Amino acid sequence: MTDAARLQLSRMGTAVQESATLRQATRVAEARARGERVWNFTVGEPDFEIAPSVRDAAHRAIDAGHTKYTPTAGSFDLRERVAQYYSRRHGLEWGAREAMVSAGAKQVLWNALASLVDPGDEVILIAPYWTSYAAYVQLLGGVPRVVRPPVERDFKACGDDLRAALGPKTRAVLFNDPVNPTGAVYSEDELRDLFEPLLDRHVYILSDEIYENLVFEGEHCSVVQVYPQLRDRFVMASGASKTFAMTGWRMGFALGPEPLIGAMINLQSHMTGNPNSIAQRATHAALAIPDAALEPMRQHFRVRRDASLRILGQLPELRYTMPRGTFYVFVDVARFFGAWNGGKRIESSDALAEHLLGQHHVAVVSGHAFDYPDGVRVSFTLPVDELEEGLDVFVNALRQRA
Ligand code: PLP
Repeated sequence: MTDAARLQLSRMGTAVQESATLRQATRVAEARARGERVWNFTVGEPDFEIAPSVRDAAHRAIDAGHTKYTPTAGSFDLRERVAQYYSRRHGLEWGAREAMVSAGAKQVLWNALASLVDPGDEVILIAPYWTSYAAYVQLLGGVPRVVRPPVERDFKACGDDLRAALGPKTRAVLFNDPVNPTGAVYSEDELRDLFEPLLDRHVYILSDEIYENLVFEGEHCSVVQVYPQLRDRFVMASGASKTFAMTGWRMGFALGPEPLIGAMINLQSHMTGNPNSIAQRATHAALAIPDAALEPMRQHFRVRRDASLRILGQLPELRYTMPRGTFYVFVDVARFFGAWNGGKRIESSDALAEHLLGQHHVAVVSGHAFDYPDGVRVSFTLPVDELEEGLDVFVNALRQRA
């Protein structure tokens, strides 16, 4: 065997590239290291501190020696706590054996898909969708079946879209609400219409609800609240990252039918074992934070959202959806492709994102990352004055389209 053959990577090792959002974040870090000032609209995490009760719980966990292995799915009392938290939110009884804890919602999604999808199985995705979904499906040899609702519908899918996409090989619908990257939030009626076609089909719903506590108007509603009869095929991914600003702690929650959760625990037992023991104790404290205490964070993001839309609204050709949740606005920039002042041509959102960063020090994520190449995602996680300054630069840069 030649050295080159020996060094060849596997199908899985070459199937995907680094996550585009993380790649753009690296470019920002490089620009800053060169001493450049960058308005960074790529960030996928709240800029808030964790609650003091969470910090204290972590310190206490170390002092009390909670630093050893725990059961793979998280300690049983934390699984109970997660189950109670969602029983209250959903108005349904969840038991501890229907809940588990993983290293972030990322691991929950992977565990769930790896437990459900065989090569050739189809998984329905709704574009634009979060960057890792298609990667998961492809790594497993599954086939993403992509539904593309129009911008006029805020990119929200409906029952007819799902009916058209369902086929004999459909294994699951990978659904996200509130949606990263569009900020869309489905109403109860929209959820009822969307999932009606699944009532008589044995297809799983993998519902990524990681932004469940970041809704600005009204309240988040889970699919399982609308159709409790689907709970034997419903699996939820959520976690502490966005709600409690605990992105670095890597705490994801899964809820689902016991046999599926059991398979996910088996996988996790070989992949990573238990999630971090100290973070588990901190998450106990986080889940005890009353809902009302999250309101100031929502207020901050609402103010930033409104400030962002005021500035984006200055350019009438710019099309975007009204974010009712998350901290992202997704802008359709196709009208800005073509010749720019100075003779440059920009023909894609990748090229636009590169131009904005290179020439204007404004970092956004290209829509390619979300399977919607005509868009860019803008995070509104900066303080309002910086946000306004940076978006002014963004809008003025777009005005240079000839
Ligand atoms: N799902 C969506 C839609 C996300 O935006 C993210 C993070 O950006 C995740 C899942 C992963 O979250 P976690 O930090 O819990 O792994």
